[in-house]
Order: sequence, then C-alpha cells, then structure tokens
Amino acid sequence: MQIAIASGKGGTGKTTLAVNLSVLLAEKFAGSRQKVLLIDMDVEEPNSGLFIKGKLQQQEVKYRLVPEWDEDKCTFCKRCANVCEFNAIAFLGVSVLVFPELCHSCYACSDLCPEDALPMVQHRMGETKIFSLNNHLQFIESRLDIGVEQATPLIEQTRKLIKEQYSGNEWFTILDSPPGTSCPMMEAVKDADLVILVTEPTPFGFHDLKLAMETMDELEKHYAVVINKYGIGNDDVLNYCNEKQIPIIGKIPNLRAAARLYSAGKAMVDAIPEIRVEIENIYQQILKLTEAET
Ligand code: SF4
Ligand code: SF4
Repeated sequence: MQIAIASGKGGTGKTTLAVNLSVLLAEKFAGSRQKVLLIDMDVEEPNSGLFIKGKLQQQEVKYRLVPEWDEDKCTFCKRCANVCEFNAIAFLGVSVLVFPELCHSCYACSDLCPEDALPMVQHRMGETKIFSLNNHLQFIESRLDIGVEQATPLIEQTRKLIKEQYSGNEWFTILDSPPGTSCPMMEAVKDADLVILVTEPTPFGFHDLKLAMETMDELEKHYAVVINKYGIGNDDVLNYCNEKQIPIIGKIPNLRAAARLYSAGKAMVDAIPEIRVEIENIYQQILKLTEAET
C-alpha cells in the first residue's frame, strides 16, 4: 500500500498529515508484522524530519550522470551542442562547455559524439538517509545539495530505493510529496495507490486544489481530499468536492493547540484527542477507498 500526500501549494498541512498518520499507524501496528515507511519526497525542502527523530541506519550520497568533455579527443564537430535539447552544452569554437544543472542525463551527446569525447560521469546531487524510530516506523529523507536545481532525478532514485528495499506487503508507505503541480510532484506520486490532496478552506487553497486535481486527472490517479484548518475560510472546497463527487476523507480542525505543537516540532496524535480521532478516521477512509479500487 502506497499513499502519497500532496497539495497544490506549500503550507497546507501536507507534512502534518503525513507525520501524524505515520505515528498513529506505527502505534496501531505494534505487536503485528505491519510497519510504516514515511518518505519525505520534498527533496528541495524536506521537513518531516523536524517532527520525526530516529536512529540513523543508512546514509548514501546520490549521483546522476552528466557528460564530461575530453579536450584531447574532441575534433570540434559541434554535433553535441546541436543534439542537446536542453541547451546544456555550449560550443565555443575552441572548447565545449557542459552545464550540469541544465543536463537531463539523456545520453544523446555522449552516444552521438564520434570521438567518444563526452563520457558520462557521476555528478553529486544530494543524499538519502534512512532512520529507524521503532520496530514499526522507518523514515527516509532525501535532500538535494545546496545549489542543485533538478529535484526529479533524486526523487526517481528514492522511488527506486523504495521498490528495492520496501516492496514487501508488511509496509504501509506514506509519501510526503513536493508541493505544487510540476514534475517533482508528478514523479513523487507515480507509484501511489491513492493520492491525498491536502487543502485549506480558503480562496488560495481552493484555487491550488483545483490545479492539483487537474494534474491527478491527467495522471489518471485515484485521489481524495483532506481539508486542513477546517473552520476557517469558506465552504467553496466542500461544495466543489460534493458537486464533483470527489471524496473528502477528513477535516482536520483548526486548533490553537495544534499550531503550538507544530511550532514546537511535535506530532499531534498523542496530545490532541480531536486530531487523533480525525487521523484515525482518515486511515479508515483510505482503507475503504483502496479496497474499493482493488
Ligand atoms: S560531438 Fe564530440 S567531437 Fe564533436 S564537438 Fe562535441 S565533444 Fe567534440
Ligand atoms: S546528456 Fe542530454 S541533456 Fe545532458 S548535455 Fe548531453 S544531450 Fe544535453
């Protein structure tokens, strides 16, 4: 089971839901063989780790492949610059410049260079850490290095790691996706059985939720909505979802105590009964929706 928690914009409560659902499920699974895997896929600004602290089990530097120009072999034919669709190669007549941040690692220049003067070499982009909190909760955090602009390759490698190490059916996987509707978010939710779109009942929240829904429709993803800070704003989100028959599987109340715990970097399910009940309800709704799907 893989659940992605996403939103059309940052700051809607995506991480709050991902963390609290993970903590609640780890408690529920105690004594069973089931386990929770929480992954922070927001590699540009991962923050689930502010709320979840565990013992570091594994740490890996992550690389992607980019071409490296070999001056001694180059005959200055310009083929590489002509073939690169991403303007990642500049041909300067007497030299060739590669811009790793623009490179999409497509291999075209390297494969087409007649002199073998552009071998693909490893280029560091960030690192992935795996933490263990207890027997029932593991946490993965992937983080881009400062200055690295492309999030998608690191998210892709994190997805691969999940497939390789956590494909057993004992794992209930919760992905904290990058905000927005661009490539990193689409890459993060690719393998999810269900995407939960978290929103706020405000005009901004409603606007960005509609964009996120359009993206889910394009990706043909099964999705549902959770309204965070329920009680503020207006009923536009509620009315729209009812009209379009999009399931609203939770309404997390807007509580001052929740804001206090959030700013202290603490999970809420063990401290605020109303939130615990709501997160439990969301879990039950997830089970219903994913069972209905399979
Ligand atoms: S394709 Fe190869 S040989 Fe031609 S300019 Fe580029 S690096 Fe040099
Ligand atoms: S690998 Fe592809 S994207 Fe990167 S520089 Fe070569 S042609 Fe451009």
